[in-house]
Amino acid sequence: MTPIALERPGAVKLAALPPLALYVHIPWCVRKCPYCDFNSHERTGALPEKEYLASLFRDIENHLPAVWGRRIVSIFIGGGTPSLFSPESIDALLSGVRARLQVAPEAEITLEANPGTVEAARFRGFRGAGVNRISLGIQSFDDRMLSALGRIHSAAEARRAIDAALASFDNVNLDLMYALPGQTAAMAQADLQQAICAGVPHLCAYQLTIEPNTVFYSRPPELPEHDAAADMQLAAEEALGAAGYEHYETSAFARPGRRCRHNLNYWEFGDYLGIGAGAHGKISFPDRVTRHERAKQPRDYMDKGTCVDKDIPPAELPFEFMLNALRLAEGFDVQLFAERTGLPLTVIQNELNEGEKRGLLIRDWKRIRPTERGQRFLNELLEEFLVYRRR
Ligand code: SF4
Repeated sequence: MTPIALERPGAVKLAALPPLALYVHIPWCVRKCPYCDFNSHERTGALPEKEYLASLFRDIENHLPAVWGRRIVSIFIGGGTPSLFSPESIDALLSGVRARLQVAPEAEITLEANPGTVEAARFRGFRGAGVNRISLGIQSFDDRMLSALGRIHSAAEARRAIDAALASFDNVNLDLMYALPGQTAAMAQADLQQAICAGVPHLCAYQLTIEPNTVFYSRPPELPEHDAAADMQLAAEEALGAAGYEHYETSAFARPGRRCRHNLNYWEFGDYLGIGAGAHGKISFPDRVTRHERAKQPRDYMDKGTCVDKDIPPAELPFEFMLNALRLAEGFDVQLFAERTGLPLTVIQNELNEGEKRGLLIRDWKRIRPTERGQRFLNELLEEFLVYRRR
């Protein structure tokens, strides 16, 4: 039965603007991984670091009127493989950002790095440039898995990269993947135990999924069955919980006090200015919420710098909000919905009731959060709000 909304969204009215973060996309990699659907491009020859920085600064300047006077609470330099840029370029990037935007002194500044592109001196350089958090794309500690994933690094390089990162940074995240081609439960556990032994404060564990427009999509490898993958996820949650990590978001685990502030801002439907080839942004105004999308090809981005800006229709805001906020194990404060969408919570009263009736979410006067079942079947829960968007 199609639920009937009590109220349809009218005008958006934001009482205050959300926190604003900055995402910087560096779109090159040494080699394209066969499972990757990110906007990443194989490097051919020397990277045009200076020219790209100039394009990033122009991108910021074009958007200054939209974010005027607002403070940047966190910066995430992602990709691609941003660690291919020299520490000098990252230094110039952060100086250029600070010259144009007001960056909070305590801002979390993350740089994504790939083992195989980094060594101790490079990490020291990134630290000196102002980066204070490193996210390492480890994926696995098993050479057979790394080779099946087409990664450029070996398990030994992964371990060396972790040691080198920890020598310069106390705030380090490791990305791991599970349900890999030919992977058994024991192999997934072994990967996880090595990650836990590394002693980093933050870990992300992602299930390998086959995405359109990837090599794996046209030539799919044999992957563990759905139930085996679900068991790996459960085993990961148990092992990380026992090791003192809080499972605070679908794929993210942190030691107390070490959650990723930049990603939390996305999940709490905060604003972000996204600069770089193919980067997206979300910027709120008192009466509307807007999205921005740049040209995907690095050459187009550098030559034309085109960016498509559009308002998010109010009817889509509830789904967009839930798509993010329901990833959080603790859900969200009931006030946050109105604060971030500019719409009263009553517009999704029926959807919330339905989610609760189906045992997918739970709420009281203060918070709304997914149940354990809702976390496991997040797509089912989100369907409720998708129905709302389509009406
Ligand atoms: S290194 Fe990361 S961004 Fe680059 S191709 Fe592989 S998965 Fe994609």
